[in-house]
Order: sequence, then structure tokens, then C-alpha cells
Amino acid sequence: MSKEFQLISNVSPGSSGWTVKVVVAEKFSPRIAQKSPTKYQNLILMDTEGSTVQATLYGQNITAFQDQLTLGNTYLVSNAMVKITNPEYRAKSGEVQWIISGRTKIRKLSSKLCIPTDEKDFTEIKNIQGLKTVKQFFWIKGKASVTVLNQTYWYMSCNNCNKISSENYGDIYHCVFCKCLEAQAIPR
Ligand SMILES: [Zn+2]
Repeated sequence: MSKEFQLISNVSPGSSGWTVKVVVAEKFSPRIAQKSPTKYQNLILMDTEGSTVQATLYGQNITAFQDQLTLGNTYLVSNAMVKITNPEYRAKSGEVQWIISGRTKIRKLSSKLCIPTDEKDFTEIKNIQGLKTVKQFFWIKGKASVTVLNQTYWYMSCNNCNKISSENYGDIYHCVFCKCLEAQAIPR
């Protein structure tokens, strides 16, 4: 039995002939690697179940893909190189990393984030705590009301342990809380 698309969790090193439907959930600025002059750019891709994977572009591929993998857009990605992440650099997005190169097939599906059309794809706020599966992203329907006007809605945090950080968005740093050497500062 073959399914049209796989999920991020179905793809492991050595998998072939796979296609995953993903949304670009984060796109960081290109960086220079610490120990070599190589430029790299990290992205966080999210599948239809809300699982995420870190994808990385290197060198010339950064420019080649700059207009293709844009934040919030949905793509079909096939045949990225799947690599086990160095545990030292492992972000919370899991044990594998996708390397996007000229051999990776990428097809754009829509111009914006797909909001589910089916009621069952939304999670009720009251049920989130009791969910058995740990997911990072949920679709919820809610009404936001502001009671304290000068409150802050987010803070810069470590992408590995969520603890507060004084770094700038996208910066790589050594997190003093979780000891991650390549923590990335992301808003939470
Ligand atoms: Zn941390």
C-alpha cells in the first residue's frame, strides 16, 4: 500500500523515493560556520501532523533556493539528503536533518499557510494538556483578548530548552541553561 506523501517521521537516512508535504515554519539568516568558512542556512520544516525537521542549505544553494523556500509557504519536498544530526548541534527538531541541494526536488503548493478546512484538524484548547502525543504545533480556534496593554507576548529563547536568551533573532550561541553549543535564538 503506498501513500501519496510521507510524514517527516517516516523519512530516515537511506530512505528513497519519498515526498513530504511541508510548510516552511522558520527560515533563519545565512550564517558562517564556526570552524570553517562555509556559509549555511537553517530552516524548520513542518509536516501536516505538526512534526518538524531542521533543513540546511550550504554555500551556493543558499542563493539558489532563496526564492523557493519562503516562510509560510507549502512545498512538496523529495529526496533531500537525510543525515543524522551531530548530538552536539541537535536542536529540538529531532535526530535527523535534511540537506537541501540541487538534487532535492521542491514543488510549491500554495502561496500561504494552509489553514485546515476540516473541523477535526483543530484541537480544542481544553484538550491540549491531555494529549498523548507531544506536538509542537496545533491549530486552535480561539478569541484573543488583551487585558494588560503593556504586557509582552513573546521573549527571545533557546530553540532547544525554551529558556530566555539575550541574543538576537537567529543568532547561534552557547545556552547556559541546557549547555547546547549551537542553540539558536528564536521568539517564543
Ligand atoms: Zn537552552
